[in-house]
Amino acid sequence: MFQVIAMWNLTRPDLEMKDSVENIKLRGYNSKPEDKVFLTGQFAIKIKNKEIKTLSVSDISDRYCPTRRDLYYKKGINRPSRHREPTWGVTAGRIVEDFLFDLFSKEMPKKNSRAYQIIREINDQFSNNFHTSNQRKLNKLSELMERDYEDPDWLLKLLNSNGRAELGMKLLHSLMFNGSKDLDLNHLKLNIAHSLKLKPRPTEIGISSCVEPDFLIEEYKVVGDIKSGIEFKPFYQLTCAGYALAYENEKNKDINWGIIYFFPTRDPFAYVKPITFAQIYIFPIDGKLRERFLYFRNQDYNTILKDKSPKFPKVNNRQHCEHCQFMKLCKSEGLKI
Ligand code: SF4
Repeated sequence: MFQVIAMWNLTRPDLEMKDSVENIKLRGYNSKPEDKVFLTGQFAIKIKNKEIKTLSVSDISDRYCPTRRDLYYKKGINRPSRHREPTWGVTAGRIVEDFLFDLFSKEMPKKNSRAYQIIREINDQFSNNFHTSNQRKLNKLSELMERDYEDPDWLLKLLNSNGRAELGMKLLHSLMFNGSKDLDLNHLKLNIAHSLKLKPRPTEIGISSCVEPDFLIEEYKVVGDIKSGIEFKPFYQLTCAGYALAYENEKNKDINWGIIYFFPTRDPFAYVKPITFAQIYIFPIDGKLRERFLYFRNQDYNTILKDKSPKFPKVNNRQHCEHCQFMKLCKSEGLKI
């Protein structure tokens, strides 16, 4: 997360890309019927009457299954009662978030370390402690291993390397902010997930009433999310559009920028195991992205109101199936992969 602070300050899109967020009409507080931010008609009535489950930001933005059969299993009106199965990817994602939040909250108030060796030592100690206190989750991850590239020990190695980069970025930020006069880091506040719960009005914007972005920088109108997996997916950006609309709906104040902190947890295509680091994506939450999110929101409410789940994706479009929480269920209903 310190990487987010440094990258934001190096780019400052709020100064250099102002045009991209001027004149955004599709704000979460915009009730004009012609802009279609607020739900109208049957969706709003069914949510109000509790006839359908409200969609969360991730229900709308996590578009892993091409036909949205996964969404129907979660929220469809005739969804089966069977639960989803835990997967390596989802479990690893939670571990990644815990590691980053822990490191951030423990190191934020501390003075910076100024030598590579000290940074390596501090982070090694943190990683060892994290390993010990998260043994149960890591054991679970080992149980879920199905492929040789799904390796909990390697994941910890990647987290450790990335943690060192985090501490290096903390020092870099302090040096560049202050010209080395003072190595404290209190200049840019980041609210982290557990202190941040948004409560939009579901009957207005169709997003469920508990929204938890991973981080928010109110001063710069930024909202952000941590994602992990094999590769960055373009639909990750939709998550920030959903958070922005939810924030605006509750607070009546604007959010203009999104940041995705993407952490690669494994690489099935690599010839050797590379040490990789987080990738930071900074982007405007502009009219087009909002329009896309709202289009998918409406399409998804249509999907969950259908009597039956959507069909399986076409044979050449089933790449996600083997990593999907519903694979067993789909296979029991005839899916071939
Ligand atoms: S297993 Fe495949 S078809 Fe079934 S919900 Fe998941 S992605 Fe969709």
